Amino acid sequence: MRGLIMDQPQLISNLLIHADFVSGDREIVTRTVEGPIHRYTYHDAHRRARQLANALQSLDVKLGDRIGTLAWNTYRHFEIYYAVSGIGAITHTLNPRLHPSQMTYIINHAEDAYIFVDLNLVGLIEAIESELPKLRGVVIMTDRAHMPETSLTNALCYEELVNGHSDDLEWPVFDENTASSLCYTSGTTGNPKGALYSHRSTMIHAYASALPDVLHMGEREVILPVVPMFHVNAWGIPYGATMVGAKLVFPGALLDGKSVHELLLAEDVTMTAGVPTVWLNLLNHWREAKTRVPSLKRVIIGGSACPESMIRAFQEEFGAEVRHAWGMTEMSPLGSVAIAKPRITNDAEAMRKQIKQGRPVYGVEMRIVDDAGKSLPHDGKAFGELQVRGPWITSGYFKLDHSEAHGKDGWFATGDVATIDEDGYMEITDRAKDVIKSGGEWIGTIEIENHVMSHPDVLMAAVIGVPHPKWDERPLIVVVPKTDKSPTHGEITRFLDGKIAKWWMPDDTVLTDELPIGATGKVLKAKLREQFGNHKLPNGN
Ligand code: AMP
Repeated sequence: MRGLIMDQPQLISNLLIHADFVSGDREIVTRTVEGPIHRYTYHDAHRRARQLANALQSLDVKLGDRIGTLAWNTYRHFEIYYAVSGIGAITHTLNPRLHPSQMTYIINHAEDAYIFVDLNLVGLIEAIESELPKLRGVVIMTDRAHMPETSLTNALCYEELVNGHSDDLEWPVFDENTASSLCYTSGTTGNPKGALYSHRSTMIHAYASALPDVLHMGEREVILPVVPMFHVNAWGIPYGATMVGAKLVFPGALLDGKSVHELLLAEDVTMTAGVPTVWLNLLNHWREAKTRVPSLKRVIIGGSACPESMIRAFQEEFGAEVRHAWGMTEMSPLGSVAIAKPRITNDAEAMRKQIKQGRPVYGVEMRIVDDAGKSLPHDGKAFGELQVRGPWITSGYFKLDHSEAHGKDGWFATGDVATIDEDGYMEITDRAKDVIKSGGEWIGTIEIENHVMSHPDVLMAAVIGVPHPKWDERPLIVVVPKTDKSPTHGEITRFLDGKIAKWWMPDDTVLTDELPIGATGKVLKAKLREQFGNHKLPNGN
């Protein structure tokens, strides 16, 4: 027997309709790419999104067409998210930090019909336009007064496009499984692969993300997503925040510590989100300028492991709770959040849980398996490949018939190696391809890095495997020291003594000025291995 409930499709446009209705006066503030601060409300955003939707239809954009965006976090990008998906087209976010050849590949693979581009990124499209046969035009996200000289064949002005159309529009209704947005993984090997989200997956993810024990979003929150809207839809914040009518603050193109601080302070931001490398800059700024942001209650940190020293800095020095989260582009991205269970009242035990990647968010199922695909116990010790399934996890890649990661049994293989403890907390020991194989055993690099980064002289650290004649591979620490510091290998190993298993103790330490950081803010271990793979270990014969 079927329930007698309306079968109403869950569509992204409903979020903005609702926010306009109940939180229409709540603000959306942007540091614009042109410079000044722009402020308006959900009501204004909804009106302009409808104008833009009409404009897109006048450009003959149809259901299923891909529309690229090459843009920072701004109100205009927000309007595009809603206008494009709202008419059943697909918002395809492009990462400006990608190599031009990858950008060309992605745009052609997605067959983007139009690309919306921010003022300071126009050059990236100009440079490759001749290689983009399917592209019909480029919309430059500014007003007429700021339109640049450009070599683009069909360059349109965003404000003219929006203002040239009426806001008279009923959002169309279609199947909730219709594709809504597309984001390519930054894959270090092979071509990037497209994760294609649907209205339904985005909406369910938005409900889950707003929950108190997930990102804790509500109308009273003021949320500044530093995580870019071109990286997994800024972790879904533009949807979840709209669902609850939170005030949104968009940082535009300036993501240095001082600029982020100024905006956090000026707008009384209560929560923010981003990858660890961004927070290193903010923490440095706070310490140097002897300042802080009193309104800030919560910092969501994910994308790479958040070191204990960073959790302590936010919580103990600056009074903001850290929510360490794990996810993937293929997972929309939320997978797990690390919050200590209510029974854990002891600080040390709570910290041991917080440095893990956390418990799955409701909606995500998780398991760890050995090489034969057999499930491993939840004892916090056994580690194997982490697999997931759920209603916001991809079932395949865009226009790719076969994917090894999407198993026949309905589970997605994440490529992460992890343990799960008795309380259900998952901890990533490594990306499978970064694990160090020493004498037939595995050494997880994340735990060692976590400890090294607590050393007072260390700013950043990464651990990689380098070839060893007897053990196959042994760990090497690559350290970016703090200004005027130069910790020795002996000092670091003495610091690690007792914190990690003896046979995990790295064989050597090299100092460097910076670590190679990829397009989504993660340390590029493959690059480091290229750079230091030939390093001669002291005991390596
Ligand atoms: P991306 O698809 O670019 O977001 O990358 C996803 C990958 O980032 C995951 O498979 C993990 O390897 C890594 N990752 C994300 N969050 C964390 C975290 N909190 N700790 C460790 N690794 C993480």
